[in-house]
Amino acid sequence: MTTTIDLVSYEDALASYDPVMGLEVHVELGTKTKMFCGCSTELGAEPNSQTCPTCLGMPGSLPVVNATGVESAIRIGLALNCEIAEWCRFARKNYFYPDMPKNFQTSQYDEPIAFNGYLDVQLEDGETFRVEIERAHMEEDTGKSMHVGGATGRIHGASHSLLDYNRAGIPLIEIVTKPIEGAGERAPEVAKAYVRELREVIKALGVSEARMEMGQMRCDVNLSLRPHGREKFGTRSETKNVNSLRSVERAARFEIQRHAAVLNSGGTIIQETRHFHEDTGSTTSGRVKEEAEDYRYFPEPDLVPVAPTREWVEEIRSGLPELPLVRRNRLREEWGISGTEMQAILNAGALETIVATIDAGADAGSARKWWMGELARSANESGKTLDELAITPEQVARVSKLVSSGDLNDKLARQVIEGVLAGEGTPDEVVDKRGLKVVSDEGALTTAVEEAIAGNPGIADKIRGGKVAAAGALVGAVMKATRGQADAARVKELILEKLGVSEG
Ligand code: ADP
Ligand code: MG
Ligand code: ZN
Repeated sequence: MTTTIDLVSYEDALASYDPVMGLEVHVELGTKTKMFCGCSTELGAEPNSQTCPTCLGMPGSLPVVNATGVESAIRIGLALNCEIAEWCRFARKNYFYPDMPKNFQTSQYDEPIAFNGYLDVQLEDGETFRVEIERAHMEEDTGKSMHVGGATGRIHGASHSLLDYNRAGIPLIEIVTKPIEGAGERAPEVAKAYVRELREVIKALGVSEARMEMGQMRCDVNLSLRPHGREKFGTRSETKNVNSLRSVERAARFEIQRHAAVLNSGGTIIQETRHFHEDTGSTTSGRVKEEAEDYRYFPEPDLVPVAPTREWVEEIRSGLPELPLVRRNRLREEWGISGTEMQAILNAGALETIVATIDAGADAGSARKWWMGELARSANESGKTLDELAITPEQVARVSKLVSSGDLNDKLARQVIEGVLAGEGTPDEVVDKRGLKVVSDEGALTTAVEEAIAGNPGIADKIRGGKVAAAGALVGAVMKATRGQADAARVKELILEKLGVSEG
């Protein structure tokens, strides 16, 4: 049923057109109870066990607004540099769908709680791009349908459907951007960076865990193309419920190539919703888009308007945590690293572990070095994330301390890390069990150095003749003789001393 089209290459698409995007992100709030009733929001309960007449839409039941939900919405709005409405209302968005028991979704329409903001996001090269926010509004989630009896779990081919209303009425915040223009070929990257930054903000605010793989945060990607130099936007497609950062980027990229193909062949883009498929990285047509008037929005008569006092808003503002971008910039400065280095740390998912390692007493340089080097490699090889590795930030900090105190050199420290990862115990236990200690006894070192010189007369002569670089080979011989347990810098000093050469 899907028509395949020959995509235009990404480069060719960008050579003729300018992409415009709009991102709509839904975030499920982590409140204890639902948005308009006292039902629990706990995940994993028996289907339909967390329901009541209100969230099942029974006649005569009346909703009450969850104050924590409103506060969370304001927190998000403020963190996104939005204005907060002095007065706003909920609205009914009317449509029929079996997973929505009231036959309308309680949402906000032309009176959102937060509007006119922006979020600065950071691209791979460390550059900042500002995404303007149109509004953030409150609404409720729907229930879940399960299509049973078919091979695919989709409605086509199913014999019947089951409905679980536990999710119906869970508070959602929908955050909508203004059209994102000017990103050019970086549009897909901007989309991904925006969703990632938004997720970090939401997590920092503590209003949701924002786990995309759990559906706690989902993104609709609106995209259109216009020929270079044209001001008027083209018609958009809306790819729904994209649920990973990578997919957001891929969906935008695919739509750019698809739109270009349609436009180049003289076709017209129809405004429709589309579905993204992880396996192929492509989108397929969903339904032709409703217009707002199809929903017959009207103000919700059963709920009082929301009118947050300015005092309350300011109180919430003063309680906001340090926001992720500000924090990252502060850490970047404290650590003296570049934007790209910080981006690499983020991509490796290493920021929090590095911070925890520093908090446990390591210096910033070695915390970064271990987690981005040895440990990142180890995680990579075993297909784990850094926090799944069998070593804690405290243990890495301990190893780093043993190095700075001179008890271990780098090479021995790597063996200790390896031992901890292999389950041999804490760093100190591994040091004991494996007998790892830097040989700092000058007498023993001197003997080893003399033996190395005696055993390699040719090299020794070269060094005497001024080829200081050749000392490396002798250092190697000493390290080998001491099973890596010598301080290499000290060994080199001793060698040069013995041969009567000064460095540099
Ligand atoms: P709807 O609910 O119909 O999807 P919204 O206004 O909630 O409408 O969201 C539309 C999103 O798409 C917004 O982020 C908006 O900025 C963006 N947008 C609007 N027109 C275009 C367009 N022609 N091309 C790309 N994005 C657009
Ligand atoms: Mg939409
Ligand atoms: Zn309920």
